Amino acid sequence: MRLTQFVFVAAIFEVAMVLPTANLAQSAVPANAPYKNANLPAEKRVADLLKRMTLEEKASMVAGSGWMESTPIPRLGIPAIKMADGPLGVRSWAGSSAITGLPGSPLKVLSTSFPSGVAMAATWDTELVHRQGQAIAQEVKALGRDMILGPTVNINRVPLWGRNFEGYGEDPYLAGRLGVAYVKGVQGEGVIPSVKHFDANNEEFERHRIDETIDARTLHEIYLPAFKAAVEEGGAWTVMSAYNLVNGVHCAENKDLLTGILKDEFSFKGFVISDWGSTYSTAPTVNAGMDLEMPGGEPAKNWLANPALLEKGNSGRWLTADKVLAEVKAGTIVEATLDDNVGRILRVIFLSGIFDHPHVGGGEVNTPAQAAVALQAAKESIVLLKNEGHLLPLNAKKTHSIAVIGPNAAVARTGGGGSSLVEPKYAIAPLDGIKKLVGGGVEVKYALGVKMEGEVLNQLQSASPASLMKEAVNAAAHADVAVVVVGRYDKIEHEGADLSTMDLPAGQDELIQAVEQANPHTIVVLNTGNPATMTKWIDKTPALLEMWYGGQEAGTALASILFGETNPSGRLPVSLPKEFKDSPAAANYPGENLHVNYAEGIYVGYRYYDTKNVEPQFPFGFGLSYTKFEYSDLKVTPLMLAKGAGHSGAVVSLTLRNIGSRAGAEVVQLYIHDGHSKIDRPAHELKGFKRVDLKPGESQTVAFTLGRAAFSYWSPETKDWVADSGTFEIQVGASSRDIRLRAPLELKQ
Ligand code: BGC
Repeated sequence: MRLTQFVFVAAIFEVAMVLPTANLAQSAVPANAPYKNANLPAEKRVADLLKRMTLEEKASMVAGSGWMESTPIPRLGIPAIKMADGPLGVRSWAGSSAITGLPGSPLKVLSTSFPSGVAMAATWDTELVHRQGQAIAQEVKALGRDMILGPTVNINRVPLWGRNFEGYGEDPYLAGRLGVAYVKGVQGEGVIPSVKHFDANNEEFERHRIDETIDARTLHEIYLPAFKAAVEEGGAWTVMSAYNLVNGVHCAENKDLLTGILKDEFSFKGFVISDWGSTYSTAPTVNAGMDLEMPGGEPAKNWLANPALLEKGNSGRWLTADKVLAEVKAGTIVEATLDDNVGRILRVIFLSGIFDHPHVGGGEVNTPAQAAVALQAAKESIVLLKNEGHLLPLNAKKTHSIAVIGPNAAVARTGGGGSSLVEPKYAIAPLDGIKKLVGGGVEVKYALGVKMEGEVLNQLQSASPASLMKEAVNAAAHADVAVVVVGRYDKIEHEGADLSTMDLPAGQDELIQAVEQANPHTIVVLNTGNPATMTKWIDKTPALLEMWYGGQEAGTALASILFGETNPSGRLPVSLPKEFKDSPAAANYPGENLHVNYAEGIYVGYRYYDTKNVEPQFPFGFGLSYTKFEYSDLKVTPLMLAKGAGHSGAVVSLTLRNIGSRAGAEVVQLYIHDGHSKIDRPAHELKGFKRVDLKPGESQTVAFTLGRAAFSYWSPETKDWVADSGTFEIQVGASSRDIRLRAPLELKQ
């Protein structure tokens, strides 16, 4: 009986295999059609399924069917890809095709809020970012979704970009390593990530219309490497295009970027998804390499029709089935292109496993394990910037009273605003964290000091500015130590607009100054995603911490650092300039007449400050610890990769020793200096880093292997990566401006 069945089915299969495409597309799908066979390679399944699809079905798949869903084809069992916003956790959002996945549910989902991207970058901990990716993916699955819209790997070019909090800082190598870790963590769970926003989404100013002129070398060395790494090393399944134009063409229809670079140069095999409402044409967009326009269906119609939500231009709803079919009919889109678009979506559906094993919920959100990842990340992300006279760590036994002051002290400001903002079940504000840690033994007094700029007044805040300030000064004057938590919030740092200034919001500089005058033991804590001007008070500030937007556990983490339960180990993933005008892109931001020239080229962040000798307030890679580390024994051994290939790289090793009295972690950074190249190069470039935990007195050998890529620049002449033979300098240190060890390396062809 079984055998007969098999023969019968096989017979259908045989027939199906020889039917011409058109017929196959119309015929009934046998139960054992090859694409349904989970044991076959994805490519075979894609090829088989494509043959069974009608032109109309294919055309319907290049646009979404909802706010957060791709178009399913139930006849063939092709599921919708159900998305959720990220990347800093699962965005809490309710609406049509909302993340709850429960039909008709008005409930918002409360999920784990992880530290913002720049905070995660400050950990320099790829293993932790991998675990964050896993935890987020588990929540995505538990909610019955398939895809998380992240990571954001755009580079921090300007200190005022509204989304700097979301990205991984200013260095393409660091952003790439973390992007790869996030992608692998997510994909390992069978969840689809989306590396965004391709490419060069570096300002929110007029994000639909801003046209950026960026030369090819700058693109390859600064704005593409993180995407390249996420695709080539992370094997990313999807990439999201950006709103802006690059070199005169919107990213969603930029063939040079989507096909030339992403699909051809990086061999990207997944699908490109548009940013929400970022498309402006039908045939040029499809032909450029855009595979899926989002959003789609009724929600897109309603959204785009709403003038309040409609940003400049006639964006979105260009890849609807009727429009695409009309272009196919007119011959401006060929069916093979559509096959490629749809094939890419199908490939991801098969590779992720969602065809065979739909995510139907179950699992858990907000587990203690997920919260533990958020807490560890928040702890590792905090950067100790100043600590004169060892004011920190505080001794809970010797501290009798503490004044906790500022507009960011009693409110948990977990993240920046926009599509990445997660609504957690609970969030620990600095004041809560401190109170919990000290228990009843220490008197904790709170004062607002100054209300947050632009925040809606509540009863307390409606007190006069003078009385709020007086109260704060009074609290500081009568306490052993004062902790002033200042910064911004999600209405100042958010998607859709840039900051208007690098200065702290109104009244905060004055608050810091007044508190410092009242109490010499003042610790300033910055709760920001972007740099802040500190010139008015920094010289008098004994202790300073950057806590970023640290997610739901930020307050716990801050308290733990203040009282020395945790030794600070965060390092700046971005240079903090003294003033906005010092930053490399200041002269070319936000552009004129909707055009911005990236005239600073490759000189972004420390590449600029360290080459042009402009002193930042705090340099890239910097961060203090409660212990001390000693670097020694640098050894550089040329590496022969292939017989006769010359010295193609190097193995670098050194000894790191904890010479202080506390356990702690150091982030060892490796930079390469090229003093002989045919082309102008920055003073140095980060090409390796390792986070190392050491007990007091303990030492460890730290080793790096550098391939040819580490020594290369992108040559506009040969349009390829080039490493000129000659002597490079290997630099190892604790920041871009604290190089502890140097050694030459002779690179031969
Ligand atoms: C953002 C994306 C986000 C999308 C969906 C856009 O405005 O730029 O990062 O994933 O909206 O919410």
